[in-house]
Amino acid sequence: MRCPSCLSTDLKVTDSRNHIEDSSIHRRRLCLSCGHKFRTTERIENKALLVIKRDGRRESFDREKLRHGLIRALEKRDVSAESLAQAIFHIEQQAISLASSSGEINSDDLGGLTLTELKSLDPVAYVRFASVYKMFQDPNEFIEEIKELTHS
Ligand SMILES: [Zn+2]
Repeated sequence: MRCPSCLSTDLKVTDSRNHIEDSSIHRRRLCLSCGHKFRTTERIENKALLVIKRDGRRESFDREKLRHGLIRALEKRDVSAESLAQAIFHIEQQAISLASSSGEINSDDLGGLTLTELKSLDPVAYVRFASVYKMFQDPNEFIEEIKELTHS
């Protein structure tokens, strides 16, 4: 990227904001050569991201589906819309990074990313999500997980 004023590549990012709604990153940049300030918008490429289901079928990553799953898990919990949006954004970014060049991620890995995110967001939502998505093979695992949470 070059400064639109003097074409220098010596740029500094002074501010970065994630816009969840349209999957874009808005940045303010400062040209260190001439002091020109400008804004850039980068689209986050996610059109190629595919989720491999347990039965081997592939489907496009569905942000709305993820959002609904999280909202259900966070029902009546004190988590702001902003935190929710950030969590979705974060999960999606990690999924894209994990998928890397293949553009594919296992649904279990996606569930794992979601759980990790929820764990730091809200412990109750974390346990709810884990149970909804049947991450636990038997009830003891579920109990162990709750124990671990109450100790941490
Ligand atoms: Zn410049």
